[in-house]
Amino acid sequence: TTKKRAAHVVLLASPGTGHLLPVAELARRIVAHGGGAEFTTTLVTYTNFSSADLYSTLASLPPSVSTAVLSEVPLGDLPADARVETPIFTVVKRALPQLRDLLRSLLESPSGVAAFVADLLSPWALQVDVDLGVPRYLCCTTNLMALSCMLHVPELDRTTTCEFRDLPEPVHLPGCVPLRGADHLDPIQNRSDPAYRLMVELAENQRLAQGFIVNTFNAMEHETLVAFKELSDKGVYPPASGGEADEHGCVRWLDEQPDASVLYVCLGSGGTLSNKQTAELAAGLEASGQRFLMVVRFPSDKDCSASYFGTAEHGDDPLRYVPAGFLERTRGVGLCVPLWAPQVEILNHRAVGGFLSHCGWNSTLEAVTAGVPTLAWPLYAEQRMNAVMLSEQRILTKDYLSCLVRHLNSILDLF
Ligand code: UDP
Repeated sequence: TTKKRAAHVVLLASPGTGHLLPVAELARRIVAHGGGAEFTTTLVTYTNFSSADLYSTLASLPPSVSTAVLSEVPLGDLPADARVETPIFTVVKRALPQLRDLLRSLLESPSGVAAFVADLLSPWALQVDVDLGVPRYLCCTTNLMALSCMLHVPELDRTTTCEFRDLPEPVHLPGCVPLRGADHLDPIQNRSDPAYRLMVELAENQRLAQGFIVNTFNAMEHETLVAFKELSDKGVYPPASGGEADEHGCVRWLDEQPDASVLYVCLGSGGTLSNKQTAELAAGLEASGQRFLMVVRFPSDKDCSASYFGTAEHGDDPLRYVPAGFLERTRGVGLCVPLWAPQVEILNHRAVGGFLSHCGWNSTLEAVTAGVPTLAWPLYAEQRMNAVMLSEQRILTKDYLSCLVRHLNSILDLF
């Protein structure tokens, strides 16, 4: 008998760690599916905006996940104050010839290419795939409501003329909570910014996908899933999210704290506070007397997503940028960790009772999965709409379900 050849899936992660991690997780899960004999994958990513640990992340993947890193593309012609989306999309567009060459050579290799999956912010890559005739999917690393809103941008663009924050009525998309224009995606809030036009283009290219893989789950976005499936002739596939543990000194510190007593403060891989906001946050934490564990980034007075571009220009320690004396005065009550902490492990630690989050979708899912209540401090991208969803949409949480079961039991007791 001849052994069936494993299907080879090529996945493309958009520039930035917040995109690489979930797409790497998807690559890992695809090869693990069916005991590892059915699929192999190639994870493709970019050099621009990759963090220092890009190569260790790639090296940690199982052998049936091959990797390819597209070489750096020059961005020197972009204005220094361009919004974060502009350089990301520019990298994706300028690297298309490299991607085309890579996909062609993989197609001609013995493994072939059974399917191509581009992530949310690199749908331009689907154009290459249309030419090559491989089944193509879009992997949405954020939620389905954000994807629905993104796909709706070209229509909003055609049917309205004012800035979205001035829309008199909230936007009602099928199965989604009503969204005020001001809470809509951050990069479409200024029609004259180049990022706005790119967002319209983004949606047009996302529509090239033959199906969407969305990092959400039924209990979280039930009505949105039902409505999306009704409206679209394309598949929607919600996998579960995952994360992994790590060894870190802050976990040992958490081991010494009482149950559910610590507020964990972290604004994702790109979220950045100004100097004034950093000082206010520190003053608030100190005055509250609350135990806290805070991941500290270099502040930026220019851009609330500055950390996205890496921190290479700061050779020093971000803890130097918290207010003078703060570390000493909060010693024992709070712990500040520079740059990065093992978030999934922290959120699942018994000592953590709350999460001050920028509401990036990975963080949101990690908090919900760990059952940790979230205080929302949305900063950019689709984070405002995530915060609105979290605060206004009823989510079927464990508490809600156990309350329902108790209620049903008490009704049954009556008979
Ligand atoms: N993360 C982490 N430690 C940190 C900061 C972030 O492990 O100090 C992880 C976090 O668990 C999540 C991802 O990085 O999986 C951030 O993704 P998210 O979508 O929340 O935000 P983004 O970074 O894309 O803004």
